[in-house]
Amino acid sequence: MQQFDYEYLIVGQGIGGTSVAWHLHDSGKSFQIVGDSSKPSSSRVAAGIFNPLTGKKLVKTWLADDLFPYAKSFYGNLEEKLGCKLMHLTPIYRPFRSIEEQNTYLAQTADPGISPYIAATSDPGSELPYINAKFGGLEVIQSGWIDLPALVDASRAYFKEQDLYVETTFDATDLLRTEEGIEWQGKRFKTIIFCQGFFALENSWFNWLPFTPVKGQILEIATDVPVKPYIINQGIFALPVAENRMKVGATYSWDPLDWAVTDDAIDELETKLRALLSTGYTLMGAQAGIRPSVRDRRPLMGIHPEFSNVSIFNGLGTKGVTLAPFLAKEFCNHLIYGKELNPLVNIKRYFSLYFR
Ligand SMILES: Cc1cc2nc3c(=O)[nH]c(=O)nc-3n(C[C@H](O)[C@H](O)[C@H](O)COP(=O)(O)OP(=O)(O)OC[C@H]3O[C@@H](n4cnc5c(N)ncnc54)[C@H](O)[C@@H]3O)c2cc1C
Repeated sequence: MQQFDYEYLIVGQGIGGTSVAWHLHDSGKSFQIVGDSSKPSSSRVAAGIFNPLTGKKLVKTWLADDLFPYAKSFYGNLEEKLGCKLMHLTPIYRPFRSIEEQNTYLAQTADPGISPYIAATSDPGSELPYINAKFGGLEVIQSGWIDLPALVDASRAYFKEQDLYVETTFDATDLLRTEEGIEWQGKRFKTIIFCQGFFALENSWFNWLPFTPVKGQILEIATDVPVKPYIINQGIFALPVAENRMKVGATYSWDPLDWAVTDDAIDELETKLRALLSTGYTLMGAQAGIRPSVRDRRPLMGIHPEFSNVSIFNGLGTKGVTLAPFLAKEFCNHLIYGKELNPLVNIKRYFSLYFR
């Protein structure tokens, strides 16, 4: 008989906690998740886009060649397990802003690191009469979006049914930590894993880490004409989620860091949207969230510098969908088998901040 009721206690069930939970589940490890679905979560606001080539300069996403194949198989397996549609493989159309941009981008497509992510076929812009693309555009492939709220909800329902999910606000004062393990609500665990997104800033074990959270806002619109399954990306993204519906985002702001929708953000997005779309639309709603970003733009995961049974999986920043599956696997292998973590994501890189 083991000494613990469960090996792991996971705090928080956004895409971070959910990915960790599935890896533990598939590794045959015992765990419970504690989540508070009334608390805000960035994963409920995110558009869920995965995009191998980002930014104005068409930069390949960090670790893309590892992250993308892994993420697709992870989400595909979850669709089967949970019996619902979660993953939409959708190309991204990037209209050129000028002839100069057209030339620069087309030259870049010759780069063998980038070319696998660009469609070889002709410009699909003519099939998208509802956008302004007078200089043509580029089609990025191996991209798409994940329905994160559906994924989180379906996973929660599955874990609840298995008695692996507790719906409450985790309060650190209810926790007893000793060298032997963790005790919470009368149950004993070997290790606690904090997956709290932005709320890590309130966690006294980890609030010394250099989080640089970024607020983001997003719109939902109904378009006057049906839209095709292409994510449009030019400064903002316009993501088709149904025949006449798009999500449009996102803004980046640092002050104040709250979850409130603002008129300024709606104006900013609508101004950019009007330049991009040649059709009318109706604004249906808006949402705000806080991305758990990090000073060096790399995730934060690993074991606490002093307490070997306290750990964190966080810092997914702007790319939770792409990063969470692969890194949750690496993180779980670290916890379970002691496998080394990539030093670029291991919180060890910041231990000097804790000990100073
Ligand atoms: C506007 C916007 C658009 C975005 N678009 C994209 C996109 O297109 N693609 C992409 O990859 N990423 C996108 N992101 C980023 C993405 O949202 C994050 O990378 C990701 O959701 C972070 O997941 P997480 O699980 O770490 O945090 P969260 O989703 O915030 O989850 C943390 C969870 O922990 C819970 N929690 C915290 N403390 C407690 C406690 N004490 N007790 C119980 N529960 C607790 C919270 O309630 C929450 O549910 C976007 C973000 C924003 C704001």
